[in-house]
Amino acid sequence: MRKYQSLLNSLEKYDSFLLTTHVNPDGDAVGSLLGLKYILQSYADEIDLVVEDSVPEYLSFLSGTEDIYLSDELANTERKTDYDLVFVVDCGDLERIGKVADLIPEGNKIINIDHHDDNQEYGSYNYVDSTVSSAGELVYDLAVELGANFKKDFGMAIAAAIITDTGNFKFSNTTPKAHRIIADMLELGIDTKRIIKEVYQRESYGGLKLKGKVLSDLKLAGDRNIAWASVSQQDLDLFEVDWEDTEGLVNSIRGVKGVEVGVLFKEVAEEKIRVSFRSNEYFAVNEFAHQFEGGGHPRAAGCTVMAPLAEAEERVISKLESELGVKNQ
Ligand code: 5GP
Ligand code: MN
Ligand code: MN
Repeated sequence: MRKYQSLLNSLEKYDSFLLTTHVNPDGDAVGSLLGLKYILQSYADEIDLVVEDSVPEYLSFLSGTEDIYLSDELANTERKTDYDLVFVVDCGDLERIGKVADLIPEGNKIINIDHHDDNQEYGSYNYVDSTVSSAGELVYDLAVELGANFKKDFGMAIAAAIITDTGNFKFSNTTPKAHRIIADMLELGIDTKRIIKEVYQRESYGGLKLKGKVLSDLKLAGDRNIAWASVSQQDLDLFEVDWEDTEGLVNSIRGVKGVEVGVLFKEVAEEKIRVSFRSNEYFAVNEFAHQFEGGGHPRAAGCTVMAPLAEAEERVISKLESELGVKNQ
């Protein structure tokens, strides 16, 4: 079955595309964006890739990242913004594209390609499948349906999306198909080892020290089934690091024996706390995050709490304790 048939029928009619994804883009967001660009190139005269926040340094080895615009940058150029089609990848909620929304004229056709099960279906076309590993896998399917020739850059982008969103094949979203796509990429000579090296085996000195400090303050809550920690602005200053140096930390926190939910609080501004949730077996963290206007996947979700750090910790952990307690009875 060709799932993209409706899109394929109309693709030839359009010439200019805007491609975007969620704020603070991760490997799936960036890989899907780049992969999509490579397959749409033969259809469009103009393709702009635009994101609110810059691509993390650990993904800058992917070719094409240097051409991704920041929304503030594009807003200050003379480039026209009346695109024929807007593609949004790896984004369950249109609000999560941030300021890129200001570049999209009212009534513009949006193509929503995503794998979050709480996707709001905000597109004119919605290609949402929460059974796949990553948005990158959906972009790969589109490439197959278009009969695209897989070139190295496309392969690296899709492999980066799949490898990062499955935590290098460790998370519960790892499917046989995710492995098969990577196997195909290996046969094509794609250097997946490079992706693993750049993403997982190249920690900055300050970043590793920061993780050491944060983990030395790790706390248990509930029936010792919640583990949590926080990173303050002061911590970042102390080790002269950036938020991207906290990547992966919440996964270590979830890994504590006996723990169902791992939580990491990040003080991104004085009264703005980004919260990351990860669970192991049964607790749907996306449903929990909805109560704080967040969302995500059942085993990986997030939200933002507008409060001082200590207050955000108290509000989230006490609620989590009561909900996990109820589920355990
Ligand atoms: P992370 O903890 O890595 O920032 O996010 C984990 C997952 O939750 C990702 O799939 C991400 O898209 C989703 N997520 C994180 N924060 C939010 C949020 O504020 N709203 C929604 N809808 N999803 C989020
Ligand atoms: Mn993502
Ligand atoms: Mn994803």
